[in-house]
Amino acid sequence: MHYLSTRNNQLKESFIDILFQGLSKEGGLYLPEVWPIIPIDSLRGKSYQEIAHAVIHPYIKESISENELSSILIKTYKSFDHDNVAPLIKIEKNKYILELFYGPTFAFKDYALQFLGNLFSHVMLNSNKKITILGATSGDTGSAAIEAFKSKKNINVFILHPHNMVSDVQRRQMTTVADSNIHNIALEGTFDDCQKIVKTLFLDSEIQSQTSLTAVNSINWSRLIAQTVYYFWAYTQLDSKKISFIVPSGNFGNIFSARVAAFMGLPMDQLYLVTNSNDILHRTITSGDMKKADVQQTYSPSMDIQVSSNFERQIFESLERNSDELQHIMRSFLNTGQYVLSSKVVKDLQSIYNSYSVSNAQVLETIKNFNEKYNYLADPHTATGLYVLNGEQSNNPLVSLACAHPAKFGDAIKIATGSKPSFPEKLKNVFDKEEKFTILKNSTEDIKKHIIKNL
Ligand SMILES: *Cc1c(COP(=O)(O)O)cnc(C)c1O
Repeated sequence: MHYLSTRNNQLKESFIDILFQGLSKEGGLYLPEVWPIIPIDSLRGKSYQEIAHAVIHPYIKESISENELSSILIKTYKSFDHDNVAPLIKIEKNKYILELFYGPTFAFKDYALQFLGNLFSHVMLNSNKKITILGATSGDTGSAAIEAFKSKKNINVFILHPHNMVSDVQRRQMTTVADSNIHNIALEGTFDDCQKIVKTLFLDSEIQSQTSLTAVNSINWSRLIAQTVYYFWAYTQLDSKKISFIVPSGNFGNIFSARVAAFMGLPMDQLYLVTNSNDILHRTITSGDMKKADVQQTYSPSMDIQVSSNFERQIFESLERNSDELQHIMRSFLNTGQYVLSSKVVKDLQSIYNSYSVSNAQVLETIKNFNEKYNYLADPHTATGLYVLNGEQSNNPLVSLACAHPAKFGDAIKIATGSKPSFPEKLKNVFDKEEKFTILKNSTEDIKKHIIKNL
């Protein structure tokens, strides 16, 4: 398996080459040159780990043996708090919730980042390679990355989060980790500002000459393949020819993983993309007008995003992998904050995604409604999807993703239901520990200096 870039479709990189890189030299995102097909019926009856093996192996087989992958996967999901790793809850005929919050930081990011942590350690085991992980977080990626890489040898971690724009629990999950290889930066800006600085630094030759910068945001291909696993897993839990998914979306990583599952042979009926009021994805899919707006703070901070990195991967596919056209589109969008997609691309997007935008008021109403009707407590990200689930009728199983544990977002839950959710033991701890983070200006230069100083 070789990898090309959305901005250079002639590239032929190996898995190990792209594992530690963020962006390709041209600033593009990596994709496999072909989609491996998984015979879907071969997965029935297998465990989560076995399905993960079948899905991930074709992408990495030149670099990592079957046995090595097995032991990485067993180690990775052993620490998850549910026997099924990702349980599927039935709430009504043809309506399901796939719970993805049984990892150490209580959000779906753990399913990929715990894997990535163990994969990196395995690959670095017999080398003296040193890497610096640099990432931006709208809340959950940061803590999941910190949990995955804390105390790992030869790995330094710098995570940028938007100052005062993540939940209290989200921040404390990151800033109370005391290991000396962990560096938290609170940026005086939005998540999009954090993400922009990270992307700029990945293309900065000065910092790249001092350390090997590595991405663990969902621009990292390995994360997406690890997320593809749970779509296959959910399918095997049901007895149906086709399946539909509802995916609360921000950076377009999780839903693109669903798209990858479909490329690999998962019989997808409908795929629903849900945004909060930061609805650029919804507007782009419905009208083709990809236009940035100001970021609004909502009850679902991990979806408060206007520039969704992984959408570039989808546009590239919709352009039938034409990287010249893709370059042109991304450059115009970056320079002007707007691009009107061709009707051909829009048609393709609409043939794949049903898109919805869900308001704060609808989120609160849905949390309350599901709590009363089904005795199901959903976090505000999950609730954007459940709003759609509630309104749909489907002849096939419709699975909505539960992205985080409700206790991570207690304030919104309290407003919706009148009482705070109970805290899992592991989450309670974060309130007793001391926080450690540095507040920095929204300046690429300042961030760069800070990183170099602390390498
Ligand atoms: C990251 C995240 C999302 C958005 O997922 P993307 O892959 O960025 O689209 C939604 N909900 C929660 C809880 C998250 O952590």
